[in-house]
Amino acid sequence: MTAYDFDLFVIGAGSGGVRAARISAGYGAKVAIAEEDRFGGTCVIRGCVPKKLLVYASRFAEDFGDATGFGWQVGETAFDWPSLIAAKDKEIARLEGLYRGGLNRAGVEVFGERAVLVSPNEVRLSASGRTVSAKHILIATGGKPNVDSGLPGIEHVITSNEAFHLAKLPKRVVVAGGGYIAVEFASIFRGLGSEVALVYRGEKILRGFDEDLRERLTVAMGRRGIRIITNDVFTAIEKQGGALNGVLKSGETLVADEIMFAIGRSPNTAGLGLADAGVATGVAGEIIVDGENRSSTPNIFAVGDVTNRVNLTPVAIREGHAFADRTFGKGVAALDYEYIPTAVFSTPEIGTVGYSETAARAKFGSIDVYKASFRPMKAILAGRDDPTFVKLVVDAASQRMLGVHMLGPDAAEIVQMAAIALRLGATKADFDRTMALHPSAAEELVTMREKWVAPGEAAG
Ligand code: FAD
Ligand code: NDP
Repeated sequence: MTAYDFDLFVIGAGSGGVRAARISAGYGAKVAIAEEDRFGGTCVIRGCVPKKLLVYASRFAEDFGDATGFGWQVGETAFDWPSLIAAKDKEIARLEGLYRGGLNRAGVEVFGERAVLVSPNEVRLSASGRTVSAKHILIATGGKPNVDSGLPGIEHVITSNEAFHLAKLPKRVVVAGGGYIAVEFASIFRGLGSEVALVYRGEKILRGFDEDLRERLTVAMGRRGIRIITNDVFTAIEKQGGALNGVLKSGETLVADEIMFAIGRSPNTAGLGLADAGVATGVAGEIIVDGENRSSTPNIFAVGDVTNRVNLTPVAIREGHAFADRTFGKGVAALDYEYIPTAVFSTPEIGTVGYSETAARAKFGSIDVYKASFRPMKAILAGRDDPTFVKLVVDAASQRMLGVHMLGPDAAEIVQMAAIALRLGATKADFDRTMALHPSAAEELVTMREKWVAPGEAAG
């Protein structure tokens, strides 16, 4: 008989927390979980899932245009934002129900309220005022959007949280930031018909991604009418009647119906009682954990975005699952954070896994690069001048494949499969020996034979 109320108390019912709670309960542990908002967390309620639904919606206009090249007569089309938002909300409610149902079926005790730590083994439930004890505590509280709180007029901007619930589609949108969310929402709003500008403080959007992807996506977004303003930031936001004036450092003023800030996210640790439980945090408020997700307090663990390492849903889920296996099951090997595939659901989309050309050169020295830029078959009859781009980065000495980068339709789907090969240590010769699947865009991955030579460099 345990001296605690629970074997495990999980704070936060998002991707990582729900998985850890369900799997731990499946091992026979007595588990409770607290959620202060909606079950499912960022990904399901206000992240990946509703975002992808909006991405789908935003791509129909191009499809209607392309269809005419294939003999279709597309009549007059019209888009209704409230219908999209209602359909999206219905699906999110269904998924939230599945998340709750899964916890109930697993026998997890569910608290629909905020929880904070009061000691290494105690959690206080804010609404009921009840304090419960647990042998292990897992913090899976995720993150929240950053805004530039010192900026005059910042109260007028929205973040991705609000973008999913706007009453109407804004005619003019300005997005601040040049990362995943900024680029994805700029594409969504543009695809749905808004006039869109994106303001990024640096030279080129998507810092950290392969340079070719950054440059080619910039061109493709520009071709779709998105104005990308670089090396600039807001100095003030002013409300004037029903519109907003976004004043830039360069002196330009952008007039918009909505200004959306997507300038990164911070771990949700404020007011969580971490100091009372001796849990150490880093500069951004993230919980510092070891390779087994253990914090500085030995019975307190943290998974997912609250640790601010790789802030992606599959990573949070894997960490939560591995924590449960390790703590209540048969143990598990340490997670491997190399070759995590990721996509940016811009239009066109990016799929990428492994080292960018720059990172590979810095780490491995001599590398081979293969590039292909081609007009996908569908684009020809559609009359669309929008090349798909594929790039392979290979270690010159071992011929091991180090990176696969793609920009174009279905890049996310294709690169997910390439990630398996990279994880298995595939070489360029393995790719070359793989029979092509024709006709497809993915076949380009196994048919590239000519090394790319930088202009002015002799072929090796
Ligand atoms: P979360 O899912 O954020 O869950 C944390 C939960 O804890 C929340 O429900 C919160 O309400 C709750 N909570 C916080 N504090 C407390 C407390 N004290 N008591 C009780 N409950 C609390 N990732 C991808 O892989 N692919 C994508 O396409 C993608 N798109 C995204 C799009 C957007 C707009 C955003 C914002 C994120 C996106 N992400 C995507 C990232 C992904 O959503 C996160 O990496 C993932 O949700 C992290 O899971 P988590 O379990 O760490 O935290
Ligand atoms: P990102 O870290 O991707 O991008 C933040 C952007 O904001 C960068 O361009 C950054 O510039 C800029 N920025 C940071 N601080 C400031 C500031 N003070 N003023 C102006 N600009 C600033 O964060 P996001 O908010 O886009 O997304 C958060 C995370 O969520 C992502 O990193 C990703 O892990 C996850 N996510 C994943 C998605 C997917 O898998 N498809 C989709 C959406 C989110 P700089 O580069 O110069 O630092």
